[in-house]
Amino acid sequence: MIILAADIGGTTCKLGVLSEELTILHKWEIPTQTDDNGDRILRDVYESFKKNAAHKHYDMNEVKGIGLGIPGPVDFNKGTVNGAINLNWSGIKHVRDEFQRISGKPVMIDNDANLATLGEKFKGAGQNEPDVVCLTLGTGVGGGIIANNELVHGHNGCGGELGHFRVDKKERFLCNCGHRGCLETVASATGVINLTYHYYQELQFSTVLKEAIEQKEVQAKMVFDAAKEGDEFATYVIRKVAAHLAYAISVISVMTNPKYVIIGGGVSKAGHFLIQHIEEVYESMTFKPALAGTKIVTAELGNDAGMIGAAGLIKQYVK
Ligand SMILES: [Zn+2]
Repeated sequence: MIILAADIGGTTCKLGVLSEELTILHKWEIPTQTDDNGDRILRDVYESFKKNAAHKHYDMNEVKGIGLGIPGPVDFNKGTVNGAINLNWSGIKHVRDEFQRISGKPVMIDNDANLATLGEKFKGAGQNEPDVVCLTLGTGVGGGIIANNELVHGHNGCGGELGHFRVDKKERFLCNCGHRGCLETVASATGVINLTYHYYQELQFSTVLKEAIEQKEVQAKMVFDAAKEGDEFATYVIRKVAAHLAYAISVISVMTNPKYVIIGGGVSKAGHFLIQHIEEVYESMTFKPALAGTKIVTAELGNDAGMIGAAGLIKQYVK
């Protein structure tokens, strides 16, 4: 048997055929057509699965199930999506039932951040441990929590929305969610930029970033690169970013006590440098018994994590 999986994004859908052990056998991408309220997206994904089967890459009769990752709020139990801005979807959409109807196969859906976590647990940095947490640091901050082998969804799907955990007590920056002080405002790529402008004004350090700051052209990668080169101001900013992450992780550590805390997304390309700074603060503030054996690591699957996680839903839930 094989599993089909799609990680549906705002510009492309990543499609894959995986074995029951979640090895990718074949993968490709199609553009996401978001016009007409994104009404064609699901049909396009299904047609592409069928077309690749016709090219004899696989046999549709061998499909055990289809997993879909959605960039928006998913009600896991109902299989619905409540608006997905990047797909131009609004209102409640019965994605699971609709895809089941057009494909005739068992279908499971979840949001992209949860599926990246599931993918990393099964085939990546999570080493198949039952307790794993993932923080995806990109333009925003995505999160996923797996406790006792199960993704935590909560009563209305917000379990694991770690980007909206208030860590900045001073509430300096406005978040996309309408509140101030969320982890996303200080630990995403946007957050690195927020803190860079903020502390430059406050502290007047001399820094190699001076020109970029004054031109308002700072990018997160520039700040990390400068810090790695020993720039004092950039290092100060990165230490602040790391401290906010460490605080969030220390709280998570006494909630579900994960074995692996996986840092993914574009910002995680800073790799060991960022992890080292997080660990320093994390170890100083976390309840010691919770700390023992917990590892903060970088994600391993890159852009495939969501697709592997979508297939992981079928592995885990379709018997
Ligand atoms: Zn928020």
